[in-house]
Amino acid sequence: MEKVRVNLNYSKDYSYDILIDHDFVGNELKGISNYNRAHLVVDKNVYELYASFFGGDIFLLTSSEHNKNLDTVYDILKFLKNKKALRNDTLFAVGGGIVGDVAGFAASIYMRGISFIQVPTTLLSMVDSSVGGKTGVNLGDVKNLVGSFYQPKKVLIDTLFLATLPEDEFKSGLAEVIKYALLFDKELYEFLVHNKSDVVKRKNDVMIKIIKRCCELKAEVVEEDETEQGIRKLLNLGHTFGHAIEVDSDHEIKHGLAVAKGVYLEALFAYEKGMIGKKVLDDIENIFGTYDYDLNYKVRDFALFTNAIGSDKKAMSSGIVLALTSDVGSGIIKEGIDLDSIKKFFEGARW
Ligand code: NAD
Ligand code: MG
Repeated sequence: MEKVRVNLNYSKDYSYDILIDHDFVGNELKGISNYNRAHLVVDKNVYELYASFFGGDIFLLTSSEHNKNLDTVYDILKFLKNKKALRNDTLFAVGGGIVGDVAGFAASIYMRGISFIQVPTTLLSMVDSSVGGKTGVNLGDVKNLVGSFYQPKKVLIDTLFLATLPEDEFKSGLAEVIKYALLFDKELYEFLVHNKSDVVKRKNDVMIKIIKRCCELKAEVVEEDETEQGIRKLLNLGHTFGHAIEVDSDHEIKHGLAVAKGVYLEALFAYEKGMIGKKVLDDIENIFGTYDYDLNYKVRDFALFTNAIGSDKKAMSSGIVLALTSDVGSGIIKEGIDLDSIKKFFEGARW
């Protein structure tokens, strides 16, 4: 069993452990199924694929951005109330980022907060959303507009779940892994470049190593800047353009696949503006090329697209903020970027 400790103790100690291994969560879940002080919100697909892990009364969630809303939070709160959940009970979220975000938010407000344990089942949620304490839901068409910072008591990562993950979901999560490598870790970058066949086969030891490294990196960032005042902004690499791509493609392009395009196109933009060198742009193309990502994007609706960039949560009154990488392993923040220059970049698209 691998362990990553997330140390968070400014006002009070709410540090927690991330436990990573292969094939251990099923037993834990079976163990709590009849224990009425634990409550489960489970992704419907996961429930169907791993039915033997679950018993008793559970809340099933069909994961979709359309269900990631306050109605679902309300339903979970009613579920907890009906089960007479008490203040020191625990809510388990078993699923991808959607289940984690929605259930985490519900846990943060039921009786002003009950214990919450994340059991991420997608690669994206293992390396990203289950760590760091951001919870929340969409409001209307605005993603993650309502939420809270609420840390889990524990995160249990079982690579067993990766075996059933659809290919595009795996690739979507892998884009976030590549993002960590580009921002913080040249060794991870080299490892990914040289171990493609094991990675795409999702070999357990290789996936445990990668996931552990990403959790360590995210933990370090979150420990330093829990509420995204500084270094945590780096994690937005690829997300400014990526988010606009998601919106403009009407979410046909999955988050991580949009982030991959975003990382590349932000880098190309930054290179053309003289903010980064050619070498790092090549390195970015190289790693995404290794894993066969499609990095191009043709904007469908320019107004929608640029509006999405301009109204990005990361934007500031002084202009657009971009997280970039100046060299593999060295993330940087560039502020005050003019939206018009980005518009021109996409209008003149030559890729
Ligand atoms: P998801 O939760 O929608 O899961 C993707 C799909 O995979 C779903 O259809 C689900 O049913 C299925 N699935 C889950 N586990 C499976 C398994 N083991 N085998 C087979 N199928 C499985 O998507 P996601 O990519 O995990 O998460 C995306 C969400 O995470 C977004 O809403 C995003 O906003 C959020 N997010 C949050 C944070 C954060 O810090 N809180 C960070 C990144 C992303
Ligand atoms: Mg992301």
